[in-house]
Amino acid sequence: MQVLLVEDDPELAEGISVFLEGQGDTVEVAMDGNQADRRLQEEPFDFALVDVGLPGLGGYEVVRRLRRRGQSLPVIIITARDALDDRIYGLDLGADDYLPKPFELSELAARMRAVLRRGGHAEATRIVFGPLSLDPEGRLAELAGQPIALTAREWDLLRALAEADGRTVPKDRLQAEGSGNVVEVYISRLRPRLEVGGILIRTVRGFGYRLELAGPARRDNAG
Ligand code: CA
Repeated sequence: MQVLLVEDDPELAEGISVFLEGQGDTVEVAMDGNQADRRLQEEPFDFALVDVGLPGLGGYEVVRRLRRRGQSLPVIIITARDALDDRIYGLDLGADDYLPKPFELSELAARMRAVLRRGGHAEATRIVFGPLSLDPEGRLAELAGQPIALTAREWDLLRALAEADGRTVPKDRLQAEGSGNVVEVYISRLRPRLEVGGILIRTVRGFGYRLELAGPARRDNAG
């Protein structure tokens, strides 16, 4: 796996690189945010580890930009700040996980495996729900022909909902696709992006969520 490590602490960068290379990964280190931003546009990395406090462009901005470009590679944010607000902020920007410093290298490896597992194994069949079309092989999503940028977690969630084809997906099943109790956060982030294309995410209270096509043609069972 080709990993971009964005870390300005040379000692930590060296430690992580040696460890990951020992696992068979190829690691490129970017010491500042601008370099990271440029390299992400030049190379198809499989994974990015991004420190928050960086010279030049900050780590959050690096992540924000890569998601805006529609890049869906898994991203873990590494930072000394471990306040919950920072964590949520990082996840909101499109990171797949968040690892507070200091951490054990084995913990980093476990988190990376977990994020990759959540990505699952893709089959080459498109999943279609109304104007929404998902390509599991490329992990791409299109809404009315326009690509939408999704994080690995958002992708998994939307895929589960689209595969259910309008049936309700229990919330605990969506939870099981990842760790932590942040399904609501992801749902609220997906909602406005789908609504512009005519797809609603309905909350079925106490149970879960389902996709629904917006519009006047409501199919009620009222008679
Ligand atoms: Ca730093």
